[in-house]
Amino acid sequence: MSERFYKNGLYFECNKCHACCRRDPGYVFLTEEDLNRLNTGLHMDRDAFLKTYCRVVPMGEVNRISLIEKENFDCIFWEEGGCRVYEDRPFQCQSFPFWPAYLDSLESWKNLENDCPGVNRGRFHSEEEINRWLEQRRWLKFLTT
Ligand code: SF4
Ligand code: SF4
Repeated sequence: MSERFYKNGLYFECNKCHACCRRDPGYVFLTEEDLNRLNTGLHMDRDAFLKTYCRVVPMGEVNRISLIEKENFDCIFWEEGGCRVYEDRPFQCQSFPFWPAYLDSLESWKNLENDCPGVNRGRFHSEEEINRWLEQRRWLKFLTT
């Protein structure tokens, strides 16, 4: 594997500004594990959860399942004070900002500073830890229909 720009690790710590949970349209795609964890935490059955909190998003040849948003584009689980399902939040939320799109180059990582005040601040994350997030994502199966 070629040398990564983050070979000496990166700094990131969420300050819970919730900018990434609110105001802009986007998708929070779910895996089967996410769905099970959220169902259990909210004491709902699978079908009720899908009907109440999810939408189908066409992605080329497959459809993925995403959380819905409120009219103002806040995530359906955002409420004053934070994420209503924080302990059970989807992998996509847990693994932010260690996503392939932000780790493909130093420029992508630096650009993220404009959107996320936690980037390049706070806690140290080693190359091994970052690679573990990427590896987990590689084997992830997002829910499809
Ligand atoms: S934008 Fe960054 S600092 Fe703000 S809530 Fe999201 S991850 Fe945390
Ligand atoms: S599930 Fe929680 S952490 Fe994830 S986008 Fe929604 S409010 Fe934010």
